[in-house]
Amino acid sequence: MTTGNAPYVARDLAHVWHPCTQMKDHEQHLPLIPIRRGQGVWLEDYSGRRYLDAISSWWVNLFGHANPRINAAVREQLDSLEQVILAGFTHEPVIDLSEALVAIAPEGLTRCFYADNGSAAVEVAVKMSFHYWRNVGRQAKRRFITLSNSYHGETLGALAVGNVELYKEIYQPLLMDVITVPSPDCYEREAGESWAEHSRRKFAHMEATLAPHAHEVAAVIVEPLVQCAGTMRMYDPVYLELLRDACNRYEVHLIADEIAVGFGRTGTMFACEQAGIRPDFMCLSKGLTAGYLPLSTVMTTERVYAAFYDEYEKLNAFLHSHSFTGNPLACAVARASLRIFRDDNILERNRALAAHMGTRARELEDHPHVAEVRQRGMIVAIELVKDKATRAPYPWQERRGLVIYRHGIERGVLLRPVGNVVYFMPPYVITPDEIDLMVDVAREGIELATCD
Ligand code: PMP
Repeated sequence: MTTGNAPYVARDLAHVWHPCTQMKDHEQHLPLIPIRRGQGVWLEDYSGRRYLDAISSWWVNLFGHANPRINAAVREQLDSLEQVILAGFTHEPVIDLSEALVAIAPEGLTRCFYADNGSAAVEVAVKMSFHYWRNVGRQAKRRFITLSNSYHGETLGALAVGNVELYKEIYQPLLMDVITVPSPDCYEREAGESWAEHSRRKFAHMEATLAPHAHEVAAVIVEPLVQCAGTMRMYDPVYLELLRDACNRYEVHLIADEIAVGFGRTGTMFACEQAGIRPDFMCLSKGLTAGYLPLSTVMTTERVYAAFYDEYEKLNAFLHSHSFTGNPLACAVARASLRIFRDDNILERNRALAAHMGTRARELEDHPHVAEVRQRGMIVAIELVKDKATRAPYPWQERRGLVIYRHGIERGVLLRPVGNVVYFMPPYVITPDEIDLMVDVAREGIELATCD
């Protein structure tokens, strides 16, 4: 028997303040949807309606909701240990997970520092880089370089090193000053220019910034290959190669925020692999626990670790902590997720799914309001514009994406465009038929949103 959604919506709206939401929208044109359960790529509400989770519930879910193997890992861990302080104590799941992560990460990232969400991992990396330079006697190195249109989270440090105006502008007075360099975003490439040529050309800005500022810069922070919250803009791996080389030459850390792109989203386990580079810090969260539980880690090198390793009295330790750092349930889930990657040969299997998703999405390239269909592995984005010839965007006030979102909900597909960009980032258990449904519904939504 279903109770319907209404009672839950009423109770929710009385007390719950939702993230990233103008709550007034829920009283007008945005239905709040209470979810009763999830199964695979499907979410089901209290009226029995189902929604295909095309965005992996904010890019976290990898192997479907209520995955039997991951559920079993949670249950097993639950019976032995749910949580323990990670200072002074340790546990098998965190040890196992650290070993497994070191084994698959770019070579040389041998130390894992845990936190419990993506923004916290960025805070850790930023603080650790700053603190490293202080510990080695280079106090002047305290600034950060970021790319335009980048996103690294919502806490004040993470917000400061990000660059999406919508989230950042209002809080600017509270934020540390960073140096922003134009993104190598290939949407902006010239006609006839390849992705690699464009990203290489854009690197000149980074070089020109590092040269005069390196003495005062601790680190450059980037989202490797895809600026996800920045409307899924993408760039070529050559940029990361050039950046790694420059960071070496200028003695500046490279922080790779793989929170959204890690764990196979771009086609390789980590996006950095496509450039053959090893960052000094790699931030992981979201897919780390296959979308089950909050957990994040910052992986770093022996060199960084050694700069904090000292006599207690020197006060060089990294005194950062969160109550739920390295939670055993979350670590057990992460370990189970990595086993699925290995046992089911996920990266290999995803290639066929990605190819199908790309082929179907590219059918929209000829649409009069589609400026670009772009793809990197399991991420596909469709950029809508008002004028295809000039690429003039739709004014944000028109909220075209909301039309697509609402159509998706009506047709049973959870699409959540960022601005005027519709994208697919589904769980890896999606089938070709479900991909067809997802793309068909997106196409209908695009027609509706652009028909005037
Ligand atoms: N970095 C990137 C690249 C992200 O996409 C996000 C989340 N969308 C974050 C950091 C922040 O993670 P969290 O939402 O867990 O704080």
